[in-house]
Amino acid sequence: MRTKLFIPGPTEVRDEVLQELSNPQIGHRTQEFRDLFKSLKPGLKELFHTRNDVLISTSSGSGFWEACIRSCINKKVLHAVNGAFSKKWAELSERCGKEAGIVKYASGKEVKAADVDKALSEDAYEAFCMVHNETSTGVMSDLKAISAVMKKHPDVLWFVDAVSSLGGVKIEVDAMGIDFCLASSQKAIALPAGLAVASVSERCYKKAESVSGRGYYFDIIELKKSYDKDETPYTPSIPHLYALQKQLERIRAEGLENRYKRHNDMAAYAREWAHKNGFVLFAEHASDTVSCFWNTKKLDWSSIKKDMAKKGYSIDSGYKQLNEKLEQEGKGNTFRIAHMGDLTVDEVKELCAELEGYFR
Ligand SMILES: *Cc1c(COP(=O)(O)O)cnc(C)c1O
Repeated sequence: MRTKLFIPGPTEVRDEVLQELSNPQIGHRTQEFRDLFKSLKPGLKELFHTRNDVLISTSSGSGFWEACIRSCINKKVLHAVNGAFSKKWAELSERCGKEAGIVKYASGKEVKAADVDKALSEDAYEAFCMVHNETSTGVMSDLKAISAVMKKHPDVLWFVDAVSSLGGVKIEVDAMGIDFCLASSQKAIALPAGLAVASVSERCYKKAESVSGRGYYFDIIELKKSYDKDETPYTPSIPHLYALQKQLERIRAEGLENRYKRHNDMAAYAREWAHKNGFVLFAEHASDTVSCFWNTKKLDWSSIKKDMAKKGYSIDSGYKQLNEKLEQEGKGNTFRIAHMGDLTVDEVKELCAELEGYFR
């Protein structure tokens, strides 16, 4: 039996996209490859609403966390930490030998423009890093408000992790002035895991020239040199590129605005369903791609998860570290419903109806 994924990554990949993975291999220094690579550029730029380059790495999204930190930071970077992923990114900066300033929030809270403004005014940072959609708590932060603050600090680069929102929520990279915006393939873009994309501003390349110890694999200057020739510096996962080509065609056929609306509709349905059944939203500002709820009915989500798997549904029983922390504090726990990628409102309805069997 095929299991349908309702988890916040990897997400469900449609058969016609999966089939692309079985295309015969081609050499990565051939014209055929360059044609394939080149064909991806317009669709990717549309997805990011940008004229910047959109670099491709056949690593997971975390590779691009490392790329922007190692390529663009000499000493000091500011991170907003409001959940598990933003915390991990800040730790990565420290592991790369950079000094990381932290604007810290309680779980479920969004990043606030005024706090970012204050932190940037108090100290000299080379960049500000934030996670747009904290997948661990289902909170989405307001990029527009933060964009206004970043314009007050024109010397500071702005790096945004849009891993679990890009492709499901409109992110206008150029209008917002985001310098480095990264996403993984296996979330709202609905491709197999193992590929990452990032829009990169000219300011990033310029800054990188003054940074030493950029390494090789994730050096944005190295990637850019090849990108301009429709190539990658080393052998990429060619099957992923075929799948991306197919998925970009499918996204264009659906229409970006329709895609964003579908995500908004799925989220609205999940939230309304949860509310009707007495569950309470965990996040301060709800995401359109993943909903996190307080487990107000004290259901045993780990056994529900096991039982649902037998019926062909892969669901999430809440972010482990978050639940451990909440339980220690005697606050109970949470569960998540992911509604991202190529899923439809009908599929979310079907999932919710199935879940009702556990408490009705
Ligand atoms: C999943 C996720 C990541 C990690 O992405 P990988 O592709 O697994 O490296 C980073 N940030 C957020 C917000 C995520 O949801």
